[in-house]
Amino acid sequence: MVWDYFHYANLARKGLISFKNGRITVTGLRVFLVDVDSLQGLSDRLKEKFGEETGAKAVYDAGRGAGSRATRAHRRFSKKSGEEQARYMAKMASGAGWGRIRVLDASPDGEIVVEDSPFRRRGAGRPSCDFLRGFLAGAASYIYRRRIDCVETECVSAGSKKCRFVLGSRQKFSRNAKLRKFRNQLAG
Ligand SMILES: [Zn+2]
Repeated sequence: MVWDYFHYANLARKGLISFKNGRITVTGLRVFLVDVDSLQGLSDRLKEKFGEETGAKAVYDAGRGAGSRATRAHRRFSKKSGEEQARYMAKMASGAGWGRIRVLDASPDGEIVVEDSPFRRRGAGRPSCDFLRGFLAGAASYIYRRRIDCVETECVSAGSKKCRFVLGSRQKFSRNAKLRKFRNQLAG
């Protein structure tokens, strides 16, 4: 979508994206282009070696770091905070190819729907967007300055039309009867 690209065109115009000597930086953060299956391959190897749940948790934790770093990098230039910052990050992540991200609720207990997630796995039969789930948790934790976790309650990999993510504290996921069954996504 042109609109997605527009956010990055804007950053480029302000000189916040640089391509130089084999090095790309976006708002000061070094990035590089890699195909989606490379990251999926890493995720698959982790799950094979350590089991589905432990592997997924490792990918989720790595995603948390990515979300936190990206949000910090954009914060330096966007000067937004709170829910405004959360919505801004959703636009930037959509623009960066992380799927069509729609924020239904931008609060620390928020809800996010993603269409065309790059992390979907045909035939997986269970939610598989662990890196994206971690990214959302890491971004929210950075924005709201406290530990926020994220579970994926619907996923294209498990037969849903869209992927749906719910944010909140660990306590919330233990107490809420509807969310309790997703707690295993957060187990170590
Ligand atoms: Zn998914």
